[in-house]
This record gives sequence, structure tokens and C-alpha cells, in this order.
Amino acid sequence: MGLSTVFVALFVASVGSLLIASSMLLMNDKHLDKLSGYFLYTASGILLGAAFLGMIPKAVEMLEVQKVTAFILIGILVLFTLEKFVLWRKCPDENCERNVDASTAVALVGDAFHHVIDGVVVTSSFLISTEVGITVTLSIIFHEVPKGLGDLSILIRNGLTRKKAFWYKTFTVSMAMIFGLIAYFLSESIKTIIPYVLSFSAASFLYLSLAELIPEMHKKSTLKDSVTQISFILIGVLIIYLSLFLK
Ligand SMILES: [Zn+2]
Repeated sequence: MGLSTVFVALFVASVGSLLIASSMLLMNDKHLDKLSGYFLYTASGILLGAAFLGMIPKAVEMLEVQKVTAFILIGILVLFTLEKFVLWRKCPDENCERNVDASTAVALVGDAFHHVIDGVVVTSSFLISTEVGITVTLSIIFHEVPKGLGDLSILIRNGLTRKKAFWYKTFTVSMAMIFGLIAYFLSESIKTIIPYVLSFSAASFLYLSLAELIPEMHKKSTLKDSVTQISFILIGVLIIYLSLFLK
């Protein structure tokens, strides 16, 4: 896989999604609420689809199934533990203590770590095949838009100016590019760890979708909201299906 493809994918997934999120912040609240909702719902479907239809089957082709599932389990446990220490955006109530107490520095380190993983998994997936690469890149874009929106608003709520919040996020998302490119140049030596990276990232996609995005959806529970949510989740899964199996 060529360097330029990987570079473009990394750029769109990191800087591109941050730009989408930042420009959405300029919309009025009603439109923002609607559009970010659609992103969130589609993202859950895309993440589930990418993990179950793309990444886990690919990892199983390269590694014994027992090891793959063990790594997914480890991934879920690690993510939960990390989340306990990096209490940034998990607070359901805007005014709850955790957000106020969470230092921006700790939050940024946690966020940077997230983007390092995103970058490495984009590169690893392109090393497997273009289809898996596109699938994973789509998953990153779709979860990064709602995540970027959430992160920016929390940074602003914590007292940062819009501009500063944007540059802080630019710094953390650029980790995806830096580490994604490092992974590309080390591709010969990281080949053996690719199935592990895939399993761990599949765990992170499942965790994001099931433990973060889907609980968020339950805040809206009218029949219309539910039908909209289910439809967009299915659209997300369909997007992954088409990108993986349509040639
Ligand atoms: Zn991400």
C-alpha cells in the first residue's frame, strides 16, 4: 500500500474529522443537535460493522481465534480502566463533579493516547487490504466527529477559548498522523503485531459503540427518535458492508 494513500487516510481521519466537528460547532444549537445525532447513530453502526465484519474476521485469519478473543477481552478491560482514570467526557450531567475536577492535562494525555491508537490502526488496516483500510478510516471519521464535538465543548466549558480548544485538539489528533506514519515506516517489523492491533482496536470500537454512543442514544426515547436511531445504525452497518464486500 502506497504512502500517499495512508497519508491521505490519516489526514482525513484526524484533521478532517476535527475540521468537520469544529465547523459544526458554529451551527445553531438546533441544527447542531440534529446533525451530531445523525453522526452519532451512524457511527455506532459503522463501529459495530467494522469490528464484526472487518477487523475480527481479518484478525482471525492471522491469529488463533482464542488469542483474538482474549485480546478483545483485554482491550475492553484496559479501556474501562483507562476511562476510570481519565475522567473527561464520561459525565452524564454537565455540572457533575468529575468534569470540573478532571484536569485538562490528564484529559489531553488520554485523548492523545486514543489518537495514537487510531493512527496505528488506520495504517495497520491498510497494510492488510484497501477494503479494511477504508472501513477503518470511515469508522475513525464517524466516531471522531461526535467525539471531537464533545471534546471541544468540554474544553470550552472548562474555560478555554474556542481557538485554544481547537489548537489543543489539533495537537492530540496530530498524534494519529505522527504515529500512523511511524507505523507505516516500521511496517516490516510491525507485521507480526497487526492481528493484535486489530483485536485491540476492535475492542475499542465495540466499547465506543456499546458503552458510549448507544447509552447516549437512550437520552432520546420517543418513537420517532428510536426509529431514526435504528435506521441510522443500520445505514452505518450497510456502509461498512458495502465498503468491505462491494468491488
Ligand atoms: Zn478515535
